[in-house]
Amino acid sequence: MGYKVFISPEDRASNVYASSALWNGRTTNEKEQMGRCADYLEIALKRCGFEVTNAQYGNMYDRVAESNAWPADLHMALHTNGFDGTVAGTRVHCYPAERSRKIGRLIQDRIAPLSPGTSERLVESDNLYELRATHMPAVLPEFGFHDNPEEAQWLIDNMAAIAEETCKAICEFFDVPYIAPEKQNDLPPEPVELPEVLYRVQVGAFRIRENAEAYLEMVQNAGFPEAFVTEVKN
Ligand SMILES: [Zn+2]
Repeated sequence: MGYKVFISPEDRASNVYASSALWNGRTTNEKEQMGRCADYLEIALKRCGFEVTNAQYGNMYDRVAESNAWPADLHMALHTNGFDGTVAGTRVHCYPAERSRKIGRLIQDRIAPLSPGTSERLVESDNLYELRATHMPAVLPEFGFHDNPEEAQWLIDNMAAIAEETCKAICEFFDVPYIAPEKQNDLPPEPVELPEVLYRVQVGAFRIRENAEAYLEMVQNAGFPEAFVTEVKN
């Protein structure tokens, strides 16, 4: 059995993203986007052999209790940040213990260079409930600031990549080989080769359109419903 990762994405839809940042043509919020992140992360982690709980239900107290009871080998809360719209950058929060620091640093070092913001840092915290009440290494990435318009759009547009990089960090943390998505998924479809010559079957040629239409009806009734009339210049 693989290592067990408990994913706990933000549950508050009241944390709205900058109004200019659109997802599918409309405004969005932290619950919706961290739900996407959790789904991408679940797919990536399972591909790499992890067991995953994707807890898009309950509040943080329910989730911490479930994570401890499982018990998970790693507790991952997923968040984006908010301040006054002017600040941007990745800030991963971790519990102040060796293993939590290690996974915090691995995620911070992969996401921070990708995010547009530069106000970035690893933050040690023993007062966030999901970090202090969990019994295993616990980390709470704030991937970027969702009230900063540029960073909010970056978060929306790069959620799959953010999850994939987070998965790489988790693989490194547990010393598990990272397995990339199937190559076919991001290659364009093979071009279809059209033959240079086509052989067509013709059953009549008429000077008057109505005669052609009448003959077409006869041909169709004879069992060739896909027959059609085409106009050809002499
Ligand atoms: Zn949050």
